[in-house]
Amino acid sequence: MTKKSKSSALQNKEGVSQSEITNASSITKIQQKRKAKPTTQELISDIIKGNITALSRAITLVESSNPKHLEQANDIIKGCLQYANASVRIGITGVPGVGKSTFIEAFGIHLTTIGKKVAVLAIDPSSSLSKGSILGDKTRMEDLVKNENAFIRPSPSGSSLGGVARKTRETIILCEAAGFDTIMIETVGVGQSETAVHSMVDFFLLLKLAGAGDELQGIKRGIIEMADAIAINKADGDNLKAAKLAKVEFNRALHLYPQKDSEWQPKVMLCSALKQEGIEDLWKDIQSYIEHSKENNYFEHNRKEQNKFWLLQTIEDRLKSDFFNQPTIKDALKLQLQLIEDDKTTPFVAAE
Ligand code: GDP
Repeated sequence: MTKKSKSSALQNKEGVSQSEITNASSITKIQQKRKAKPTTQELISDIIKGNITALSRAITLVESSNPKHLEQANDIIKGCLQYANASVRIGITGVPGVGKSTFIEAFGIHLTTIGKKVAVLAIDPSSSLSKGSILGDKTRMEDLVKNENAFIRPSPSGSSLGGVARKTRETIILCEAAGFDTIMIETVGVGQSETAVHSMVDFFLLLKLAGAGDELQGIKRGIIEMADAIAINKADGDNLKAAKLAKVEFNRALHLYPQKDSEWQPKVMLCSALKQEGIEDLWKDIQSYIEHSKENNYFEHNRKEQNKFWLLQTIEDRLKSDFFNQPTIKDALKLQLQLIEDDKTTPFVAAE
């Protein structure tokens, strides 16, 4: 058969070719599929089955600022709650360049090889300013991204840390319901984001570098106090000697801090995310911590305390936004700000 007769054989009476019909019908199918938004119940049952598309859709609803989406998100979370909680939540912090994404990739891959399902989330206070996010860069965690037992979600954007943190907490619940048993939450060691992450995880890991010369001066005391382990990363090559020295220094420093409520003595460990060394030991340490804190009931107690904290935080956020969104308040505030600008009132009188 010649090329011409072949193509005419595939044409129907109206002169429409078979391939055009197939294309048109698949386009309609795709359009119908897109239009047929899954119901709340469908999303819940798909999430529980571990369906990643449903999980991503639900997270998008959580992150939306549309009140209708938020209402649906709330219903989904309610439906997922009974399937949540069965995970280990690990917070990971450290200054940019310390090797967080390299570490998370190495750690995540190790966990998936021992049969874990890993979700990686982020809280990035800079993302709302830069419109980027610490996990947004696709070149980061290249191998983990492709791993079918890993789920990576970039930091949600938002105008306030409180809002971003709320979205991340709700996302944790959704990931747990979808069967992820190890949740890592990454944050940059700037601003207040570590505090937010610390208040939503079971174990808080601080990544540090050796040889920066300011091991003890340059770090925020608060972060050290929050850490359940300090891992000195890049303990490889020429850096190994300095890393070993830093370990001694940090260990000494850690003993100066009062005992933690968990009665856990944080360890300082060496690791090389690049060479995938020390990763297994860290996981063993985290497991020992989980065992220890479950035995002395701190694990449960801490999660309850965190829930109470987030209840109060949510009420506060909600009251604030309700208050500032009232039209009369908006007008009055505008007026009072102008009066302050013109030196005609004081902040206290204006606030009254
Ligand atoms: P982040 O900004 O904290 O996420 O840091 P990255 O993971 O992007 O790492 C910053 C740089 O440090 C990259 O060039 C990495 O290849 C390098 N790096 C990360 N971990 C190690 C390590 O264990 N050893 C060495 N030598 N380099 C590392």
